[in-house]
Amino acid sequence: MLFTRRQFLLAASCTICAPAIHATPSRPKVIVVGGGWGGLIAARQLAARCDVLLIERNAGFVSLALSNRWLAGLDDGRRLRQDYRAAAESLGYRFVQAEVQGIERERRQVVTSAGALPYDWLVVSAGISEDDNALFGEDRTAAAKTRQLFPSAYTAGSDPDLLKRKLAEFSGGEFLMTVPPAPYRCPPAPYERAVIIAQSIKSRRLPARLTLVDPNAPWPGYQRVFSEFFRDQVNYLPNTRLRQLDPARRVATLDIDEIRFNEAIIMPPQTAATLCRQAGLTGRDSVWAAVDPRNFAFSGDDRIFVIGDSVGAVSPLFGHYPKTGQMASRMGQIVATEIIGRLDGKPPDPALPESTCFAYLNLDPPQVTRIETRYRKRGDGALVQSISQNRENNPQGEDDVWLNARHSELFGPAARL
Ligand SMILES: Cc1cc2nc3c(=O)[nH]c(=O)nc-3n(C[C@H](O)[C@H](O)[C@H](O)COP(=O)(O)OP(=O)(O)OC[C@H]3O[C@@H](n4cnc5c(N)ncnc54)[C@H](O)[C@@H]3O)c2cc1C
Repeated sequence: MLFTRRQFLLAASCTICAPAIHATPSRPKVIVVGGGWGGLIAARQLAARCDVLLIERNAGFVSLALSNRWLAGLDDGRRLRQDYRAAAESLGYRFVQAEVQGIERERRQVVTSAGALPYDWLVVSAGISEDDNALFGEDRTAAAKTRQLFPSAYTAGSDPDLLKRKLAEFSGGEFLMTVPPAPYRCPPAPYERAVIIAQSIKSRRLPARLTLVDPNAPWPGYQRVFSEFFRDQVNYLPNTRLRQLDPARRVATLDIDEIRFNEAIIMPPQTAATLCRQAGLTGRDSVWAAVDPRNFAFSGDDRIFVIGDSVGAVSPLFGHYPKTGQMASRMGQIVATEIIGRLDGKPPDPALPESTCFAYLNLDPPQVTRIETRYRKRGDGALVQSISQNRENNPQGEDDVWLNARHSELFGPAARL
C-alpha cells in the first residue's frame, strides 16, 4: 500500500484526482510539488521508474511563457492551457489537486490540504512568491487591494484574461508599470509587456502614457526601442524604485517624486515560493532556496530537491540561473536523472542546464530578441555563464517552434498541434 486508507480517502476527496494507477509496492515513492515547468518534467521522467504523485493547487496548467504573445493578439492561446488530470493519465503519474502546507522532513511526509502524504524522495518546484512587505509593511489591506486592482499577472494561478481585459478597457491617462528588482522570473518579459501596452496606446491613439519604473540598470535593447518607436508613449525610468503605493488614491511614491496613475501593473520583489520559505528550504540571509548548484539537492536533506525559479545563487561568478521555463525544465530532467541514478547505486555526473528565451522587442515592425544562456564548469568547479543575445528583424515563428518543443517535453505527443 502506498497510502493509508485515511490518506487515500482524503486524497480522493480533493477536487481533481487521477484515476488510480496500480502502485507497485517496491517502487520508490516520489512526491513532486508544483505542476509548473520544472515539476511536470520531473514527474514525467520519474514515472518510468518510481511511483510519482504530483501535487498542485490549481486544476490546470497555464503557461506564462509566451503569454505576452497571446496578450498582443499574436497567438490564440490554446497551447497555453493544459489539463493536469489528462497529462497524469497519459504519462503514468498520479495527480492530486491540493495545497501543500508543510514538509515534515524527519517523517518524510508532506502535509497537504488532502492529508499527510509520505515520500522517499521529494521534488519541490513551487515557483515564486511576491514580497508585499517591501512595499506595504504591515498594511495588509493596501497589499490585498493592490493585488486585486493592479495584479502583476506574473505568478502561477494568476489570470491572464484579467490583464487582457485591463488593457482592452484602458482608455487614457497614466498607466504605471513596475519591474521587480533582479533576480526575478523571465527578465525580458516586463519590457516585452511594456512594448505591448505602448503599441496599444499608439495604434489606438489614446491620450495616454506608460510610465515604466525599473529599479534595475537600463536594458539597452528596450531603451532604444522606447526612444525610437515610443517616444510619446513611454516614460522609461531605469534605476528608479517604487517606494510606496497608495492603491486607493492611486498615488505612487518613487525615489524622487510622486505620480498619480489611472491604471497599473505592480510587480513586487520576488522570492522563492512561500512553501520553500515556510519549510526552511531557503538559505541563511536569503529568500531563495539553498541547493547544490549541480544536482539541486537541498543542502539540509539530500532526499529533497528544489528546482525551478525558487533556486538561489549557484555561482559566485553570475549568481542565479535565469529564472525561465526552459531552465526549470532542464533542472527537472537533471533531478530525475539524479534520483534514478541514486536508486541504481550510480549517481550521475549531472548535466548542465541551458535556456533559450524569446521576447518581442517591437511589434510593428516585428522584432524579436533571442537570449541563449549556456554553462560550463571552470577548473576550480565554479560555473561559468555565457549569454548570447541576437536580434531577429524578420521573425518567422521561431518562438512558436520553441513553445511546441517545450510543450511536447512536458505533455508528450498529445500536446503537439
Ligand atoms: C509574462 C511571462 C513570460 C514568460 N516567458 C517565458 C519564455 O518566453 N520562456 C521561458 O523559458 N520562460 C518564460 N517565463 C518564465 C517561466 O514561466 C517560469 O520560469 C517557469 O514557470 C518556472 O517554472 P517553475 O516550475 O519554477 O514554477 P511555476 O511554473 O510557477 O510552477 C510552480 C507551481 O507550483 C504550484 N505551487 C506553488 N506552491 C504550492 C503549494 N504550496 N501547494 C501546491 N502547489 C503549489 C503553483 O501553483 C505552480 O503551478 C515567463 C514568465 C512570465 C511571467
